[in-house]
Amino acid sequence: MNTIVMGLPGAGKGTQAALIVERYKIPHISTGDMFRQAVKEGTELGKKAKEYMEQGLLVPDEVTIGIVKERLSKPDTARGFLLDGFPRTTRQAKALDDTLVELGKKLDAVIHIEVPLELLVTRLTGRRICKECGATYHITFNPPKKEGICDRCGGELYQRADDKEETVAKRLQVNLEQTTPLLHYYEEKGILHNIDGKKEIEEVFQMVETVLRGVHQ
Ligand code: AMP
Repeated sequence: MNTIVMGLPGAGKGTQAALIVERYKIPHISTGDMFRQAVKEGTELGKKAKEYMEQGLLVPDEVTIGIVKERLSKPDTARGFLLDGFPRTTRQAKALDDTLVELGKKLDAVIHIEVPLELLVTRLTGRRICKECGATYHITFNPPKKEGICDRCGGELYQRADDKEETVAKRLQVNLEQTTPLLHYYEEKGILHNIDGKKEIEEVFQMVETVLRGVHQ
């Protein structure tokens, strides 16, 4: 199962990605996570990525394409992979195509979790995260038992700086502009699957599974 998951911030992409990799036992390849890890470890890659990430800019394509290429060459991708956060540009998408040809692989499906913008704003601005364990809550849709406190570990909940109302609209706009050409790219290839992300997590996952079952033999 070689697949990509796409969706605007707040669409539930991370949640569905976790369910997909669990179900299909494939590695979850998130370029954002790889960059964050590299920054934390202070590697050469981390040093390069840090300045871009801090400004909310994309890390240059050469760097990003290089790390994805290397990651996809690892043996654990033999059964498949789930790409998350990559590609972000058409150039990255084309480089991915070339890499997959070189590796003798092909993309089975691009899963696009679709949610209307108004609902994304509500979801993002209400999101709260535990400082200690990273668990996520929503003040309306999934509130903790005690306000501001994590149910799981008792840690303090906080709001990510980029989930604040003033930055959410801008963040969505930038993301929308980035993803639209990619959606067209995969639509033309006939492998784009739009999934209604307004529904409950389990229902969305059922739709994802139906798609993946259909493309995977
Ligand atoms: P994310 O967690 O996917 O939002 O990624 C966090 C940050 O990592 C982004 O704001 C970019 O600076 C960088 N990044 C992640 N994926 C890519 C990508 N495919 N191309 C360029 N930069 C990326």
